[in-house]
Amino acid sequence: MSELEFIRWLRDRIVADARVPVGPGDDAAVVRLAEGREAVVTTDLMVEGVHFDLTKTSPRLVGRKALAVNLSDIAAMAAEPVAAFVSVALPKNGGGELARELFAGIAELADEFGVAIAGGDTNRTDGPLVINITLLGQTTQRGPVLRSGARPGDAVLVTGELGGSLAGRHLTFQPRVREALLLHERCELHAMIDLSDGLATDLGHIVEESGGGAVLRAESIPISEAAVAAANEDGRGAIEHALCDGEDFELCFTLAEAEAKRLIDEQPLEGVAVHRIGTISREAGLWWETDDGTRRKIMVKGYEHALD
Ligand SMILES: [Mg+2]
Repeated sequence: MSELEFIRWLRDRIVADARVPVGPGDDAAVVRLAEGREAVVTTDLMVEGVHFDLTKTSPRLVGRKALAVNLSDIAAMAAEPVAAFVSVALPKNGGGELARELFAGIAELADEFGVAIAGGDTNRTDGPLVINITLLGQTTQRGPVLRSGARPGDAVLVTGELGGSLAGRHLTFQPRVREALLLHERCELHAMIDLSDGLATDLGHIVEESGGGAVLRAESIPISEAAVAAANEDGRGAIEHALCDGEDFELCFTLAEAEAKRLIDEQPLEGVAVHRIGTISREAGLWWETDDGTRRKIMVKGYEHALD
């Protein structure tokens, strides 16, 4: 299948969307945002052999994940996803079939989250499969929620349960878009991030950007069953998995103490629990605190990509 044939195949499958008056087929797309909103843009690149293994993962799930990670970043800003731009470098052998499968995974999730597929690019490569999705979103009337807004005394909360995602959940997770929008509508969120690199690393980003630190209660960290299974296998603690494993794609956010209490009582997110795990402190760093008030520095190694 030639590139032109693929684009034709693709255009037949792309659903018309009023927000994209000009989609694939012209030099650039035209995207209409709601009046008075700001654009929120995020992008993520995945490389076969680095981020996924096609002998273990179907191309459909790779496509799904490529969009899901972007949706998670839009969720972290408490914004609404609007339009996706999909670019792929396809291996010369079997690239056509691969492209159709990738697209099927992307389209399924795009449909579920009301995302228009507005454009992209395809290339052939002698190297591994590369997929990049850029996702355009829009702020709500309440504006974006940033990493930098946490204040001393804020409660720190997370959605869902943490750890052990690499056993499978990292391919099938539900990006917390609806949850983030609902929280943003109901509460005065001060800071938010999605958990892509592990709670310790990502909460670390919030306190770095906001100033101060965070004091956590070990017994409050929601540990997933997958984290317990991973701990049984490798002998590390389940709490360590919950704290350090990447790709949970849950939300971590901070808000005033009183609002946090109300939120915990109400549990307004359908099928997703909200847990309080700690408090933002003036003192920098991440700390464990026990009942008797003693504090111990949390030593962790999060999930970071080496660049050299
Ligand atoms: Mg993120």
